Amino acid sequence: MKDIAIVGGGPAGALCGERLASHGFNVTIFDERLAWEKPCGGGLTHKAIQAYPFLLEGSHPKKIVRTAELISGGGHRARFEMSHPIVIYARKVLNGLLLDRAIAAGCTAVRSRVTSVDTDGAQVYLTVGGETRRSDFVVLAAGARNQLLPGTTALGTKDLEVTLGYFVPTEEDILKVKFLKEFEGYMWSFPRADHLSVGICAKMGQSPAQQLRRHLDQFVDEEKIPMAGARFYSHMLPSPQAQTIRNRRIVGRNWAMAGDAAACVDPVTGEGLYYALRSGDLLAQALADGQPQAYPERLRAAFSADLELAAQIARKIFRGNFLGGAITTRMVQLLNYSPAFRDLIRDVFSGTQDYRTLKQRLWDQFGITLVEFIRSWFGFRGLAGATDGVGREYLP
Ligand SMILES: Cc1cc2nc3c(=O)[nH]c(=O)nc-3n(C[C@H](O)[C@H](O)[C@H](O)COP(=O)(O)OP(=O)(O)OC[C@H]3O[C@@H](n4cnc5c(N)ncnc54)[C@H](O)[C@@H]3O)c2cc1C
Repeated sequence: MKDIAIVGGGPAGALCGERLASHGFNVTIFDERLAWEKPCGGGLTHKAIQAYPFLLEGSHPKKIVRTAELISGGGHRARFEMSHPIVIYARKVLNGLLLDRAIAAGCTAVRSRVTSVDTDGAQVYLTVGGETRRSDFVVLAAGARNQLLPGTTALGTKDLEVTLGYFVPTEEDILKVKFLKEFEGYMWSFPRADHLSVGICAKMGQSPAQQLRRHLDQFVDEEKIPMAGARFYSHMLPSPQAQTIRNRRIVGRNWAMAGDAAACVDPVTGEGLYYALRSGDLLAQALADGQPQAYPERLRAAFSADLELAAQIARKIFRGNFLGGAITTRMVQLLNYSPAFRDLIRDVFSGTQDYRTLKQRLWDQFGITLVEFIRSWFGFRGLAGATDGVGREYLP
């Protein structure tokens, strides 16, 4: 295997290309737009920065955000410092940076749409801008809307989320997330270097688009975000079910998928950038080792078993109840009253707390959280040390 075609020059395709070219493969990346402002929050958690430090170290414009605010469906608020900052990029900048690295490593980047892929023969044939191109292997990293599916199935309605939002030309330092009652999804405001990405995500088929837009417009009003010059966007986001993560085929004899196309997204938070980068990286390593079939197992060991667990609890987090109120509301309240719980949420938001150990950690510190909460509830707020919380309220 020598020539590798990559369809999609987003984070998954570009990083995969960079790594493959460094291993001596002839790599061509086809992307219909190359670097573009893909609808996205653009937030990279600490695990992404740890794995790919160049994302923090380079001089490209980005916003480093240390403070987050969670808002419950009933309007409770909790503000906290994250244990590690989130680094937020405009996607045009991030994609450009990753493609530049791929090209510097030896990839050829072609701005063109791939309309078909034929993997039946000894070689792969791609139709690119009306012409036929040939390669030994094809990496499909064409995102959530990927239509190129040799030997596998498309992501179904239950594996997808609808997102819509605005790019708003204003500046802010705090990342905000707002939950809604009985709603599988959330709203966000992510500050970037010179604008905000504000949006809403929800399970596909559960809420009409007009309703989502109404929720979002209300959020924008409540947060007093100045909307002059705002640009609307909408896109799909994978939110895979556990069985999709476990069973969907993502590699064949001469093809493999990475990133959103392979459904590598956290079904609770919607984080996909880290998983796109990591899946592209792991795929490149498996190809360089001459073991493409080992790719799913390596993905599972690295993160997909954890994402499967996330898929099993996603609905409970957004729709479940605890102590007579919504889990998301209790989460915001506990953040204000319990320093131990706040530490846990800090790690969740920074991307350093995985789902596999989350349950154990919650159990281990349940007693402490409860004592801190009760002390605070009965007025010993000083003992609870909740000094950086805002808008604290008692349980209804
Ligand atoms: C609204 C929204 C907010 C999000 N916020 C965050 C966030 O804050 N943090 C986070 O970690 N994740 C976030 N995500 C998820 C993240 O955007 C994706 O997981 C990530 O972009 C996946 O990278 P990828 O390389 O797999 O796909 P993409 O980034 O979608 O790249 C696919 C590329 O393929 C190209 N392409 C597609 N079809 C073809 C074709 N036929 N021929 C040629 N080229 C083609 C496209 O032009 C595109 O450049 C968000 C997603 C959405 C929708």
